Formats: sequence, structure tokens, C-alpha cells
Amino acid sequence: MNPILKVRDVCLSYHTLSGETPALSHISFDLMPGEFLSIVGPSGCGKSTLLNLIAGLLAPECGSITLDGKPVSAGSTAVGYMLQKDHLLEWRSIYKNILLGLEIRKELTPEKLSHAEELLRIYGLDRFRDARPSQLSGGMRQRAALIRTLVLKPELLLLDEPFSALDYQTRLNVSDDIGQIIKKEKKTAILVTHDLAEAVSLADRILVLTSRPATIGQTVNVSFSDPGLSPLARRNAPEFKTYFNLIWKELNPDE
Ligand code: ADP
Repeated sequence: MNPILKVRDVCLSYHTLSGETPALSHISFDLMPGEFLSIVGPSGCGKSTLLNLIAGLLAPECGSITLDGKPVSAGSTAVGYMLQKDHLLEWRSIYKNILLGLEIRKELTPEKLSHAEELLRIYGLDRFRDARPSQLSGGMRQRAALIRTLVLKPELLLLDEPFSALDYQTRLNVSDDIGQIIKKEKKTAILVTHDLAEAVSLADRILVLTSRPATIGQTVNVSFSDPGLSPLARRNAPEFKTYFNLIWKELNPDE
């Protein structure tokens, strides 16, 4: 199997009137199809910058990023982005929100509409199809936001702190829910989070970035003796604490 994503020796600095801010330095990694990668690191180290580069929203100063062998580019449906805010439009029903991307792309074909219907049904949003976003819980809204992205059949999902606006209890349930949908849909995903427990509960592999300019400090392959555990169940598995402590030490070497 070949990697779906290749990040090679990527670096980037921001240039502003007050000077240069080096954000990323010599970042290289591959991502295999179906893999779930989490990226953790100190606040402000360059995690979101890396996702923006992979989405093609920024161009690297050096190095290259290819998805399926082609350089990434902004606006491509190959990459789906999920953010902290769900950006659902209040004046549209949930169904109309889910079709938004297809509508903008003028791709409301019978085949794609039937895929949207199927996702609505499988993931229990059918009964909310005529509801407005404000009538849904935070968790259901994030589920709707994910389905809006999945309808476009992205090859790679980028998740930038998608649960951080939720309270702790909801966050545990929503990350479990979203993680299970991504696995079921066999999607390749990259999650940026400052929450180490969230990273360990969801990922097959974790990249621990150093402080700015970020380099890859450590790569941790995450495997549990029971490979079928849900993200929530992983939190109670014996291996969980070992991975958590390993990454904690990498991020807090002086403690
Ligand atoms: P993280 O996601 O790890 O918190 P970011 O990727 O958002 O970090 O930012 C990395 C560094 O680059 C930070 O120091 C931030 O202040 C700086 N930065 C981010 N975006 C810009 C920008 N548009 N212009 C200038 N500096 C920026």
C-alpha cells in the first residue's frame, strides 16, 4: 500500500511588519490510507499552520506536500476541513446545510443526493432534517458538520480542535461519536488537538511537535491489545495511561 499523503521537508515562516516568525521547520511524514493521525504540541508551535499547508491554503517555503501524488491545492474536494466552530447556517435546515457544499459545486446529482440521504439515515440525523441548527445539541451539530464534509467524499479529513468549544462531558461523547463515524467510513484523518487524552483515544499514530519553529519531536505508534475498542473504551484500557504519560513527558521534559 502506498501513502496517500506525503509531507516532505516542509518549512514555513510568517513575514509581518514586525519581523519574521519561523513556524515550521523540516517536517516530514507519510500518511497511509485509512490511518488516523493526531498532532499534538505546545500552544502556538505551528499545528494549525501545518493543517493549513496540507489543505493547500498556505504554500510551503520549502519542501513539498502531495496527496495521491499531486501537490495539494486550495478548494480541492479531496480535502475536508472540520473546525472548532461548525459554521452551520442558521437560516438553512440541517438537510440544506448538509447539501451546501454540493450546491456550491453544482453537484446535486441523484447519486450524490442519495449518498447524502444514506449518511443522514445511518447517522441518525434523518429526524432532524427539517430542524434549524439552533434546535440541535452541540454534539448533533458537530455530527451534522461532519456529514456535510463527508457528502463531498474527501480523501483526507483535517480536524482542527473540532471539540474544544464543547464542555468536558459532551466533548468525550462527541469525540467518541465522530471517531467512530470516521473509522466506519474508512476515512484518512489528521486531528490537531491540545488534549493528549483525546489524541490517544482516537489516533493510530501521534506526532509530537516541538515548540516553535515546530519540528517532529517524537512519533508514537498507538496500538491497543484490543484493536476494536471505541475511543471512549480506549480511555479505560491499561495501555492508555502508558501512551498518555509518554507524550506528557515529551511535552514537559522538566517535570
Ligand atoms: P498552533 O496551532 O500550534 O497553536 P499556529 O499554527 O496557529 O499554532 O501558529 C504558529 C505561530 O505562528 C504562532 O506563533 C502564531 O502567532 C504565528 N502565526 C500564525 N498565523 C500567523 C499569521 N497569519 N501571521 C503571523 N504570524 C502568525
